[in-house]
Amino acid sequence: MRRKDREVTDGAAMQKILTECDCCRLGLVDEEGLAYILPLNFGWEEQDGRLVLWFHGASAGKKIALLQKNLLASFEMDTGHRLVPGSKAEEYTFAYRSVMGRGRVEIPADDAAKLHGLNCIMAHYTRRADWTVDPAMLRATTVFCLRVDAWTAKEHKVP
Ligand SMILES: Cc1cc2nc3c(=O)[nH]c(=O)nc-3n(C[C@H](O)[C@H](O)[C@H](O)COP(=O)(O)OP(=O)(O)OC[C@H]3O[C@@H](n4cnc5c(N)ncnc54)[C@H](O)[C@@H]3O)c2cc1C
Repeated sequence: MRRKDREVTDGAAMQKILTECDCCRLGLVDEEGLAYILPLNFGWEEQDGRLVLWFHGASAGKKIALLQKNLLASFEMDTGHRLVPGSKAEEYTFAYRSVMGRGRVEIPADDAAKLHGLNCIMAHYTRRADWTVDPAMLRATTVFCLRVDAWTAKEHKVP
């Protein structure tokens, strides 16, 4: 990262940014080799010291079709947006906290893993991880996780 002064390296501080984000932009590769970026709700957990992001959605559609061809994905999320005005245009700035990273997607087929993933997502938004889900709904939903290989966090603090 060029701006080392803005890099967040403390694990707990990085996780706090994840917790504060409410939307994850997932980056896939489309049929023409271009980035296919889509916003998704998400949950997260640590497994053996490694960040795992959980997502859910319909079992058909472009993201699922692309994932069937290439499981590599990147992600970005951000929070804490604040426009800080100045008296001249060049004095305006923007405060933010963000994370970016990459990894490999896994799409579990068994209900227990899917329910676990859904509860990670629910915990992120409701702080509860003991939800039950109608079995028919669980079958109809695709749940997938991104096992993150590398990620970084950045904070632009403005007093
Ligand atoms: C804040 C937020 C949270 C969301 N959370 C979820 C979630 O948790 N799970 C989930 O499945 N979906 C979620 N969505 C919707 C998601 O972004 C996709 O629209 C959806 O998953 C369908 O993706 P797909 O690749 O199957 O698209 P398809 O339905 O196959 O459509 C493909 C085409 O539609 C267009 N398109 C697809 N998505 C969008 C979009 N979001 N905005 C504009 N154009 C689009 C693109 O041009 C794309 O090429 C969320 C959207 C937002 C804004």
